[in-house]
Amino acid sequence: MEQKPHIAILQSPGMGHLIPLVEFAKLLLLHHDFHITFIIPTIGSPSKAMKEVLQALPTSIDHVFLPPVSLEELEGVKPGIQITLTMTHSLPPLRDVLTSLVATTRLVALVVDLFGTDALDVAKELNLDETVSCEYRDLPEPVKLPGCVPIHGRDLLDPIQDRTTELYKFFLRGAKWMRLVEGIIVNTFMELDGNLIKALEDEEAKSGTIYTIGPIIQSGSTKQVEGSDCLRWLDNQPRGSVLFVCFGSVGTLSYDQMKELALGLELSKQKFLWVVRSPNNELVNAAYLGDQPLGHNPLAFLPKGFIERTKEQGLVVPSWAPQAQVLGHSSTGGFLSHCGWNSTLESIMKGIPIIAWPLFAEQKMNAILLTEVLKGALRPKANEKGLVDQEEIAKVIKGLMVGEEGKKVHNHMKNLKIAAEKALSPNGSSAKALADLASQWTNQPDF
Ligand code: UDP
Repeated sequence: MEQKPHIAILQSPGMGHLIPLVEFAKLLLLHHDFHITFIIPTIGSPSKAMKEVLQALPTSIDHVFLPPVSLEELEGVKPGIQITLTMTHSLPPLRDVLTSLVATTRLVALVVDLFGTDALDVAKELNLDETVSCEYRDLPEPVKLPGCVPIHGRDLLDPIQDRTTELYKFFLRGAKWMRLVEGIIVNTFMELDGNLIKALEDEEAKSGTIYTIGPIIQSGSTKQVEGSDCLRWLDNQPRGSVLFVCFGSVGTLSYDQMKELALGLELSKQKFLWVVRSPNNELVNAAYLGDQPLGHNPLAFLPKGFIERTKEQGLVVPSWAPQAQVLGHSSTGGFLSHCGWNSTLESIMKGIPIIAWPLFAEQKMNAILLTEVLKGALRPKANEKGLVDQEEIAKVIKGLMVGEEGKKVHNHMKNLKIAAEKALSPNGSSAKALADLASQWTNQPDF
């Protein structure tokens, strides 16, 4: 009997990278007959949340952990660098796994994410890098990239903010390699990123096919039991009344900013559900290494008396909430988000308007897309010290939850939700792109 086509997916470290790829794999298997192997580079031992996700996978999806990169090597290094170093260190064992898959299966494709490009080969130059000689943030005019609204250099993704670093060089190599791949799978859909997709398609002759297969979002919480308290609390709140506040799986605020946010939430008098994380930037690193370190109680950093004063108004939960379910709950009416891409898509799929509070990575670009292009978000302004103060926070929260501008933003998000559902429906653009991709792989000769 002929073997099923086999697809290898190389995932970069972090739950935010695993979750969408797992959902992508499940979606692919729903209608198509493949075998899939996740190849997972690791830092230290895999986290409990990660193991739970992998254990729950159907039998057609295998996973292989690559040998862990030692924690000492990554000590004191920023999360982005940790990821790239881990990916680089994992290349030799990756080669072994791929060689074995080629020998034993009908391997037809290797899928990599943004940090996985070192697994591909080198290609042509990125024009922006050649035409600009200073740091992008020092450019007087906004950068005009094809298909994007003009973006100020300082709002481009963090890793390219310092052109002398290894991280910058890694991203530049990654951008060049995009030209060599057979196809680019993008977790988006036409109504969300139409201009960008068209610009990429115009480039298609020079690069591979663009498959817009999204939005792919997580279908269930990995920590149902721990999250059930917040869902029960939401059950008792009025419809659309609660602002969900969450900065993704690792984002943290400074102590001063966390205090302003707490006081701003209180001042707004709006209901809130806040996933609180300790205001210590070291923990961002630690969170990427596995579960957050124990012994830190994030709630201890809240202003004195805050929990008692707001006990009727809101709920604070330490570190993690079942975000997908919270956003889908009828009591949730707004989302104060760091604009991570998964969070952005999850909010769109539930039609929930956003308060955009980008922190790192490419989140400022996502925030610009959400506020300026899609008009599905409001964005608070920082003061001269770089802090968003409590009055500004309260003003924007009220604007979103009960103000006229909030209604407009909400309508834009509802329309996007409808467009997303249409894209995913059987004859929709994303379903069709996924079918095209599957058919491409089915007919592909093996490596
Ligand atoms: N998430 C969650 N509960 C939390 C924090 C995050 O379920 O308390 C999930 C969220 O639903 C999303 C992912 O973790 O699927 C975060 O990904 P995103 O791209 O938004 O941000 P990142 O964590 O990569 O910064």
